[in-house]
Amino acid sequence: MNLTNKVLIGMGAGLLVGLGLNFSHTYLFDNALLVPGTFVNDQVINGFFHVAGKLFVNALKMLVVPLVLFSLICGVCGIGDVRLLGRIGGKSFVLYLLTTAIAIATAIALAAGFGIGSGIEKSAESTFTGKEAPPLSEVLIKIIPSNPIDAMANGDMLPVIFFAILFGVSILLVGKKAKPIVTNFELLNEVMMKMVGLIMSTAPYAVFCLLAKSMAQLGVPLLLELISYVAVLVFALLLHLFVTLQGVLFLFSGLSPLKLLSKIRNVQVFAFSTSSSNATIPVTLRTTTERIGVNNSVASFTVPFGATINMDGTAIMQGVATVFIANIYGVELGLVGYLTVILMSVLASIGTAGVPGVGLIMLSMVFAQVGLPVEGIGLILGVDRLLDMIRTAVNVSGDIVVSTVVAKSEGKLDLKVFNDPNAGIFDEGQTHFDESMEQELAQAVTQTHDTN
Ligand code: ASP
Repeated sequence: MNLTNKVLIGMGAGLLVGLGLNFSHTYLFDNALLVPGTFVNDQVINGFFHVAGKLFVNALKMLVVPLVLFSLICGVCGIGDVRLLGRIGGKSFVLYLLTTAIAIATAIALAAGFGIGSGIEKSAESTFTGKEAPPLSEVLIKIIPSNPIDAMANGDMLPVIFFAILFGVSILLVGKKAKPIVTNFELLNEVMMKMVGLIMSTAPYAVFCLLAKSMAQLGVPLLLELISYVAVLVFALLLHLFVTLQGVLFLFSGLSPLKLLSKIRNVQVFAFSTSSSNATIPVTLRTTTERIGVNNSVASFTVPFGATINMDGTAIMQGVATVFIANIYGVELGLVGYLTVILMSVLASIGTAGVPGVGLIMLSMVFAQVGLPVEGIGLILGVDRLLDMIRTAVNVSGDIVVSTVVAKSEGKLDLKVFNDPNAGIFDEGQTHFDESMEQELAQAVTQTHDTN
C-alpha cells in the first residue's frame, strides 16, 4: 500500500476515534470524560496524542527553513536568468491576489445571500480581545532582513526568500568559479528532500494522533449551534476549491483539474492535520515538483511565497464571519463596507504567515477597520479549530494551482510527470539505505579517524 493511502487511513481512523471520544464525553459520560484528571484526557489526549502529534509537526517545521533556503538557491541558479525570476514573481503575485480577492467576494456574496446570523441572539459573555496584526509598512520593511540568521531562526519566510534569491543571483554573478557551490547546494537540497521522505514515512501515525486529538476536543454541540455559519463557510470553501481554483487552472493553463486534484490529496491532508500552510511547505514542495512536474526553479519560489501571502481559505472565512457578525450585531455594512473588507483581507493575508489560528488575528484587524465589535469574534472562536483545518487545506491548494499555472506559462512544467498518475508517489524504497555506499562511507570515516 502506498503512503498516501496509509495517511488517508490514519486520517479516517483519527477522525473516528476523536469524534467517538467527543460523543462519548457528551452523551455517555455526562461531560465528565474529557476533563482534567481523567486518564483519557490527561494521558491519552493531552499525553500521547498531543506529544506524538506535536513531534511530527515540529519535524515538519524543522525542515522548512533549510529546505526553502537550499531549494530556492538551486532554483535561482537553475533559472539562470534574473528577468525570468522577476516574471515568475510578478505572475504569481498577481494570481495570488486575484484568487484571494475572488475567494472573499464569493464568500461575502454567499453569506449575504443566505442572510446568515440574522436570527441569532448575541451572547453576552463573548470576551475575545483581538491581537494587533502587523501594519503593511512593517511587513514591507521586514522583507529585507537586517539579520538573515534571525529571520531563519524565527521562520520568517519573506525575508528568508529574499535572502535566498539574492544569494542565488550573486552566485550567478560570480559565474563559473561558483560552480562547486551550486553542486553542493544541489546535494544539500537532495538530502533535505530525503529528510522530507523520512519524516513523511511516519505521517500515517502522526496524522492519526493529530486528528484524534483535535476531533476529541471539538465542540460538537457548539458546532451545531453555529450550524448556519459553519455550513455556509464550508460550502464556500468547497466551491472555491472545486470551482474557482480549478477554473483558474483550466482557464490559464488548459490542464486537467481532475488530474491535479487527484495528486494533491496528500498535501491537503497534511494541511488539514497541522492547520499550518507553513508547516506543510515541505510536503507541498515535494508534491508540486515530483508529482505535478513543476520545475524546482518555479516551485521553490512560488510555494513558500504562496504559503506566506496566499490564503484563499482564510479570506473566505473572513468574508463569511464578517457578514455573520454584522448580522448578529445588526450592523449595516453596505457596499463600501464590503469593499473595505475585501481590500483589508487581501492585505492582511499578505502580512501574516500561514500558522494555526492566524486567520482570527487577521479578522480582528478587518473588524476594527469596518467598525464591527472585535468581541464578536468570541462567538465563532469555539468552532474555529475545525474550520482552520479546512481552510488551511484550501490555502495550500491555491498555492499549488498558482504554481502550476505559472510554471505552465513559462514552459517549466513537465507534462509527462503531470499526466502520469503514479509520478513521484512516495515509495518506501526511497528510504532504504544503499548498503555499499553505507560501507564505503563508514570506511572513509574510520580512515579519517585513524589518520587523526
Ligand atoms: N492556518 C491557516 C494557514 O496556515 C491560516 C489561518 O487561516 O489561520 O494557512
